[in-house]
Amino acid sequence: MVGDQVEGYSIYQWWVIVYTIFSAFCDHQFLLTKRGITDKLQRVFWPFLRTFTRSILLERTLILIKPDAIQRGLMGEIASRFEAKGLKIAGCKMMQLDNAILDAHYVHLTDKPFYPRLQEFMSATPVIAMCLEGFEAVDAVRELCGVTNSRKAAPGTIRGDLGMSMQCNLVHASDSTESAVDEVARFFQPNELYSYSGALDTVVYADDER
Ligand code: UDP
Ligand code: MG
Repeated sequence: MVGDQVEGYSIYQWWVIVYTIFSAFCDHQFLLTKRGITDKLQRVFWPFLRTFTRSILLERTLILIKPDAIQRGLMGEIASRFEAKGLKIAGCKMMQLDNAILDAHYVHLTDKPFYPRLQEFMSATPVIAMCLEGFEAVDAVRELCGVTNSRKAAPGTIRGDLGMSMQCNLVHASDSTESAVDEVARFFQPNELYSYSGALDTVVYADDER
């Protein structure tokens, strides 16, 4: 659904536009008190619309904790940063990556001179694959990881605080909502992903964000 294009905007983007206009309409106190139809719309359709829209805005993204982080004993440190941020772990497992999965995962890099070295690095030890969930999780997680070159990554990010290398940059994170959908499906079977309500959901997000 995320990838469907309608005249330049994705279905997802169109829905957010419609939702925003409709929510402004429903929030207008004058219309609410003067027009029965608006009142009805808010009481009957609003809860449905809100739940539906929230489920669309909730994103899942793929994280790989790379072999350098495994060897340096940083798995817990990295996972705890995602937990502390308020992201929910929808899936988590250890995997040994082979060339087939790496070629699919790094299809945009297979013709680069450094690719054989990257393949060797990514298969040196098993990795931890995690699926993280949250509102706008894809962008939030990328920000938390920092830019590709760890030496240039901002302090406070995982790469900025823990790394000094371009290749050995500790984590992979999906770079768009579209690639997140593909990557989560590449690394996880549907029955390896879990939806559950977290005890902290009500304090991680405000009422109007959930
Ligand atoms: N990489 C590398 N040399 C480069 C660029 C990338 O070794 O010049 C490695 C690095 O580990 C990086 C991965 O290839 O994380 C994937 O590259 P991409 O450009 O997708 O960066 P990312 O999305 O991980 O920041
Ligand atoms: Mg990338």
